[in-house]
Amino acid sequence: MSAAVVQSESHAVELQSLRVRYNDTEVLRGVGFFVQPGEIVSLLGPSGCGKTTTLRSIAGFVTPDSGEVLLDGRDVTEAPVHRRGIGMVFQSYALFPHLSVFDNVAYGLRMRKVPREEMERRVTEALALVKLEEFAHRRPKQLSGGQQQRVAMARALVIRPKVLLLDEPLSNLDAKLRQEMQVELRRLLKATGAASVFVTHDQQEAMVLSDRIILMNAGEIVQEGTPEEIYREPRSLFAAAFVGQANFLYGKVVAVLGGGLVRISVDGHLLEGFACGELASGDAAAMVVKHECVSPVCEGKQGLDANTLGCTFEMANFTGASVQLHCTAAGQPFVCLTNAAQHCGPIGAGTELFLQWEKSDSLVFPATPH
Ligand code: ADP
Repeated sequence: MSAAVVQSESHAVELQSLRVRYNDTEVLRGVGFFVQPGEIVSLLGPSGCGKTTTLRSIAGFVTPDSGEVLLDGRDVTEAPVHRRGIGMVFQSYALFPHLSVFDNVAYGLRMRKVPREEMERRVTEALALVKLEEFAHRRPKQLSGGQQQRVAMARALVIRPKVLLLDEPLSNLDAKLRQEMQVELRRLLKATGAASVFVTHDQQEAMVLSDRIILMNAGEIVQEGTPEEIYREPRSLFAAAFVGQANFLYGKVVAVLGGGLVRISVDGHLLEGFACGELASGDAAAMVVKHECVSPVCEGKQGLDANTLGCTFEMANFTGASVQLHCTAAGQPFVCLTNAAQHCGPIGAGTELFLQWEKSDSLVFPATPH
């Protein structure tokens, strides 16, 4: 194991140009990022993009073909799992069914031969942190999914790791509990002060839990930033499509205007938005507009600096807080998420209506001709 200290002000985790190949396929293609102490970073991306392989490289289950893994400035690329002092929480919880909650949590301390008194104190503290003191003597199967997840958290936290890795930790929970646990988990992770890296394919979960999101695609990092940056300023069509729910209007650039604006023609309709990337007249382009930025034009309420587009209404889906209006606009599907539908009165299928959205909410990316 190389223990070279490579820098004085170290990141808790630093990956440098990791490359991992399975058989003939390169599944990590130069992945590099860092995580500060106390920071929660999520690896987000579609299935198969390399999130778990990245996490397993930090843990030591995967040895990269090239690149380096540094923990607190120490090169651990070749170090075995048990020498890295990392806490881990898996999707399956991986609890020992025959051990009590207390003994599950105590396991890592017993392995490290921590004296009995200290062990008991630390397990009790860890169980208090996840609010499970009263369940110490139960077996895992006598607990709900959410409680088992918290036992897994306590077991990871009890060793006081500086780095905590979580692989889809909430994916086995039902939707409501999952949402509750997202908030709870963030509170817990912040309380520990550990650098946390977690893997998820769920963009909403990544947004709620993380300080920073690392968006991956096909073995590479395509964008990283705060949840708000990733949501509001996607740098590619991929990022725009993966984070949030958006409409895509495919057309051609007809004019490059001042102030970063471009005018595009979509099936003969002229729309304006902000150019994201190099665009010239004649280029194929896609305008991206988030569903919630679109509203139906009700009489006298048209925005001053808005794009408007006639559409054919197809159906409305009531989702509770809002209504999704599914339409066809310029021959392409178009969705508007609104609670304003009631102000326009009931709409029947086939009704022609106008939709509007601000130019400032319109991002235009280079696209392949559609
Ligand atoms: P994610 O976590 O983003 O779903 P993974 O890191 O699990 O992605 O996998 C990345 C790619 O590597 C996938 O194409 C997957 O099939 C492949 N892969 C993962 N583990 C192995 C393995 N042990 N052997 C061969 N291919 C693997």
